[in-house]
Amino acid sequence: MKVEVDKEKCIGCGACVSICGDVFELKDGKAEVKEKETSKNCAKEAEGLCPVDAIKVN
Ligand code: SF4
Repeated sequence: MKVEVDKEKCIGCGACVSICGDVFELKDGKAEVKEKETSKNCAKEAEGLCPVDAIKVN
């Protein structure tokens, strides 16, 4: 799966990092993707949890 974060939308809540720290990290108050290509299901969970729909996992 490909993982993308829209930094314009991200409010830095940290939810994606909490549930899936292998794939996401916070840098300067925004989420960054550490694993742009991943098989980890938690990336998909993070997509569902993000309060501003900033995560796309396909
Ligand atoms: S869950 Fe969404 S808003 Fe929160 S840090 Fe991650 S990408 Fe940003």
